[in-house]
Amino acid sequence: MAKKKLPGHFCKVCGMRKSNESFSGRGHAAHICKACSRLSPARQAEEMTLHRLENLPLRRLSESEMMWLKNRTHDHRPEVKSLACMVYAQRFSRQARNQKKQELSIQTLTLNINGEICDSYGDPIYVKENYQVSRTPPTVVRTQEDGASQTIAPPPKILAKLLKWTVHTLEIFWWGEDYCAPADAGQEDETPLWSVHVEYSNGEVQDVESADDPPDHVSELLFALAELFE
Ligand SMILES: [Zn+2]
Repeated sequence: MAKKKLPGHFCKVCGMRKSNESFSGRGHAAHICKACSRLSPARQAEEMTLHRLENLPLRRLSESEMMWLKNRTHDHRPEVKSLACMVYAQRFSRQARNQKKQELSIQTLTLNINGEICDSYGDPIYVKENYQVSRTPPTVVRTQEDGASQTIAPPPKILAKLLKWTVHTLEIFWWGEDYCAPADAGQEDETPLWSVHVEYSNGEVQDVESADDPPDHVSELLFALAELFE
């Protein structure tokens, strides 16, 4: 079956499909609409570059696409440069994170919650709990508000899976970056509503605390740990 042809014509400058009337005779062949053809050649080229930046494929970029993007971060046109920097930072941080995850394995983890979180029905509940997790030997200690503490020894496989999920899906290593705005740093008198302390097998140690309500990933970790005690 023949491919259905879309109505109108594509303009490579503004990146839009426009009616045939929006193109002059010459414009049709050049793929530049009347409105865009009134722009200077320099401006047309800039528009095209901005569109290409906005529409970069979501898949992993090829070497040459990556190089093109990298070069645009030094572009002399301020608009191109700032958009390219933004796109590049997004792409690069995703790639860098995925790479970093490969070398992270949690040895011990402490989670402290002292605030309101949403339960699975979306209702806020007050939680004051502390969890201490250790991979070897596999133990989880839960201390509740009244000071009572409980220790369990989950199967190593279950615990290993949970810790892996905490790194790869919850991205715990970046909680400080993702959830703790630098503005928080000055407010030391505020009691933290949640905090984590993590020690990784490669020797890295992470401490994060925040006076803001626990974000979803923090609640998810709390629920997963609480589930071990059911
Ligand atoms: Zn156009």
